[in-house]
Amino acid sequence: MARRSTVGNKTRMKAMGLDKGIDGEAGGSGGSSDGDGEKIRGPGFNDLDDLMASGFSEWKRPWWVSEVDKPTLEIDWQATERFDQTKIQQVSWRKYIGDAKADELTKRRDEKAHQWMIEGRDGYTIRDRALDIASRNAGTSGVSFTGSWSKGGGDDHADEETHFTREGAGPPAGIGSNVMTPEEMGVPRWEGTAAENARMIRSALRHFGADQVGYVELKPDTTEKLIYEFDAMDGKKIEFENVDKAYETDKKRVIPAKARWAIVFTVKMSEELIKRKTEAGMPTALSSAATGIAYGQARNMIDRIQNFLHVLGYQGLMGSWYNGLGIAPAFAVMAGLGEIGRINRMISPEYGPLNRVFKIVTDLPLEPTKPIDAGIMNFCRTCKVCATECPSNCLSKETDPYWEPAGAWNNPGHKTWYEDSPSCRTWWAVSTAGCSTCFAVCAFSKKNESIVHDLVKIAIAKNKIMPDQVNAFFTKMDGVFGYQDQKNIEDWWDMELPPRGANNAKRHLLDK
Ligand code: SF4
Ligand code: SF4
Repeated sequence: MARRSTVGNKTRMKAMGLDKGIDGEAGGSGGSSDGDGEKIRGPGFNDLDDLMASGFSEWKRPWWVSEVDKPTLEIDWQATERFDQTKIQQVSWRKYIGDAKADELTKRRDEKAHQWMIEGRDGYTIRDRALDIASRNAGTSGVSFTGSWSKGGGDDHADEETHFTREGAGPPAGIGSNVMTPEEMGVPRWEGTAAENARMIRSALRHFGADQVGYVELKPDTTEKLIYEFDAMDGKKIEFENVDKAYETDKKRVIPAKARWAIVFTVKMSEELIKRKTEAGMPTALSSAATGIAYGQARNMIDRIQNFLHVLGYQGLMGSWYNGLGIAPAFAVMAGLGEIGRINRMISPEYGPLNRVFKIVTDLPLEPTKPIDAGIMNFCRTCKVCATECPSNCLSKETDPYWEPAGAWNNPGHKTWYEDSPSCRTWWAVSTAGCSTCFAVCAFSKKNESIVHDLVKIAIAKNKIMPDQVNAFFTKMDGVFGYQDQKNIEDWWDMELPPRGANNAKRHLLDK
C-alpha cells in the first residue's frame, strides 16, 4: 500500500532547520498525525514544495490592493432593475441601428476580412483568422473523427455568433466567425514550410491550453503501426486509403494516405490533486479528478485544433474518443515528449508522468521532433518506487526492461516493463476512484519550479560516474524528503490553486 510518510514531518523540518511554525504557531484549525505519530497542528507541510507554497488558503492580492466596503462606482439600488438580456447589443444591435445599416456593415466586414486574408495583412491572415475562429468554436461534449465543424456548426458549440444569429438578432456570422474552409471563404489555403507549420501548431495548441507539443511522421513500416487497427469504442476499422478527404462508414474510418503527420501534445495533471490519497493509501475522488480534468481539457483542445486546421484548409483527424486513434505513450516517445518509464507510460523531463498524451493525424506537413534521452528510463532501472507502492502489485520489479509482453493487452515489439493491466483495472473497481498511485509517488512527479529538482534532473541525465548508485541515492533522498508521501485530503480545498488547478506554464529556472 502507498505509504503516507516515511519520515516524520516534524523530524524532516527540524533536520532542515525549518521546524518553527509547524507546532501550532502557523495557525489554522484541525490537525494531523504524521508517520511518527507526532501531532502537527496547522498546515502540516509534507515537503519543501509545500512549505514554499504555503500561504494556505489566502487569496493573495498585490499589497497595493485594498478591500473596501463599497465598490468604487456609485450605485443607486432604488433605480436599479432586473435587466432583460435580449436588449444587449449582441442580440439587438440590428434593432438599434436598423436593418439597412446592419446589412451594409456586415457586407463590408466580410469583404474586408476576405480581402485582408488574400493580401496576407499582418494580424488578419488566414492563420490569424483560424486561431480566432478555433478559439471561439469548440465542441464541448466529446471528440470526433474530423471535428465538430463537420456537424454544421456543432450542436454543442459555445460560439456566441452561432447563438446570436437567429432571425432579427445581431450580425450574421460570416467570414472570420464561422468554421469555414478557405474554399468556402474564397481565399487561398495556408501554405507554410514543415518547420513553419510545426511552430504554428505549437503556438496554437499552447494557446488552446496544451503543454508539450511534438510531431511524428507516419511511415508505413514503423510509426504508422502506432495507429490503432480498430477503434476501442465502436470497433470501426481505421484504414489508410488514397483519397483526398477523410471519410467514415458504419464499419471504418478512412485516413487519407497523404495525412502523414501526427501532432502529439500533452496536458499537465495537478501534482497537488493526484497526491490526495487516504492515510491507508487509497485513491480518492480528489486524486481521480487530476486525471479527469486533463481529459476534459484535452477534448476541447482536440476540437479546437481540428477546427483550426479546417480553416487553414487541412484535415485534423482523431478517433471517436479522446484516447482513440493511436497508442499515446508510443507517440509521445517517438515525438520526444518524454521517455518510457517503469509504469509503461511516458515520463517527461518537465512534468514526469503527470501528463496525459493526445494525438491528431493531419495532412499539414510538419517537421518531426526527435526522441530524447534525459536519463529517465535508466533511472527507472534502479528506482522501482512505483512498483513497490502499487497496491495491486501489477508493475514489474525487474531491473532491466524486457521484450516479452505480460498479456494480450500489451503490444509487442519494444523493450519495456510490461504491466499486468487487468490487475490494475481490477483495483480501480475496488477503490471506487480509479488509481494513480504510481503517478503520485513517482520520483519525477514534482512541481518544476525548484532549482534543486532541475539540478537532480541534470545529474540523472548527464552523470556517467556510477550512475546506478547515484540514481539509487536520489531515489532514497526522494523518500527522505517526503516527495513520495501523500498529502492531506481536506487541505486541498483551502489551497490557493493556480489557474486550471495545475500550473501548466512550462518554466525551468535553468532554461535559457
Ligand atoms: S494505477 Fe494501476 S499500476 Fe498504477 S499504482 Fe494503481 S494499480 Fe498500480
Ligand atoms: S517511480 Fe521510479 S521507477 Fe517508477 S516510473 Fe517513476 S522514476 Fe520510474
